[in-house]
Amino acid sequence: MNIGILGAGQLGRMLAISGYPLNHKFAFAGNNNQESAAFLGKMFIAENNIKSLAEFADVITYESENINIKNLQQIEKNTQIYPREKSLYISQHRVREKVLFKKLNIPFAPYKLINSLKELKSAIDNTNLPAILKTTTLGYDGKGQFFITSKNQAEQAWNKLKNQELILEDFIDFKKEFSIVAVRDINDNCKFYQLVENTHHQGILRITIANIEDIDLKLQKTAEKYVSAILNEMDHIGVLTLEMFATKDGLIANEIAPRVHNSGHWTINAANTSQFENHIRAISKMPIGDTKATHKFVAMINIIGKIGLIDKVLKLENSHLHLYDKEESENRKLGHINITANTKIELENSIYKLNSFLPNNIKINI
Ligand code: AMP
Repeated sequence: MNIGILGAGQLGRMLAISGYPLNHKFAFAGNNNQESAAFLGKMFIAENNIKSLAEFADVITYESENINIKNLQQIEKNTQIYPREKSLYISQHRVREKVLFKKLNIPFAPYKLINSLKELKSAIDNTNLPAILKTTTLGYDGKGQFFITSKNQAEQAWNKLKNQELILEDFIDFKKEFSIVAVRDINDNCKFYQLVENTHHQGILRITIANIEDIDLKLQKTAEKYVSAILNEMDHIGVLTLEMFATKDGLIANEIAPRVHNSGHWTINAANTSQFENHIRAISKMPIGDTKATHKFVAMINIIGKIGLIDKVLKLENSHLHLYDKEESENRKLGHINITANTKIELENSIYKLNSFLPNNIKINI
């Protein structure tokens, strides 16, 4: 099948890598020939690149939710697009996500809509600080957020984010951050990966740990219940990720990504079918594959800003290096390392050996 991907970053690259063994062909609508996926298939970079992609593709998918729905509407009469528009429409906007969570009885962080500095000041007066001012759209890797700890920061926060739709969200005093990656096929079958723990630093994901040995079955079940309600409500086809906070009162939904996700990269080396292959299988109407983990412990460490000492990674027998063919630049995701292990000690030792890839002040507790 000919698969068209909107975007040509690392997610598009890894989707294509997983789809070639299934005899699929790939093309991308991207910005330039230096992008991560550029050598993995046909690149359409001219002005009408989405139309050209539609001419090539039997099915179109996307690697980011930040795309203009109007552009998709031009091509959807003649080309199948998965996941469908509803998944994209909801996950492009924090308030639409929260409305969906409410409808499905999924707990979420309380919020207030903010349209002016006056409204922000009044919301701050009526909220227990800290709170987070967030743009409703286009936020990723901590961008589009202002962390408010005192009343006199109202103007500063407003000046930074004004002229965009905003919400003031309650701060959630979480113990851990989790995500669950799930996949749904055209026959309504859903499969779920292991709930994983994510550690962020400066709003960017640094490390994901899948601990299969000590899995909390109650939490896993709750996460599966929430994510399957979302998948079914959206009639979603493909992979979808739900990010959550674990609090003393249980899981609280943060946001949805209607796509493969950074916290699912561990599945390339440590699940029977990776998130990338399962997304490709689902959108090409193939049966989706088993999502079970193949190791008791897995860590995914993002390589950010500098490629670093990759010889160290290559010499370690239980590590797997994935580079994205991107230029080094501050805070840019350049690749990731998957470490597989069958004991906690083995995993800890390997992470310790690779700690030059992590910021100094990041603490990993497995
Ligand atoms: P987001 O773009 O909403 O995923 O936020 C990025 C990161 O900021 C999250 O992974 C959390 O670490 C933190 N964060 C976002 N919203 C909240 C919140 N309401 N309470 C506490 N931390 C948050």
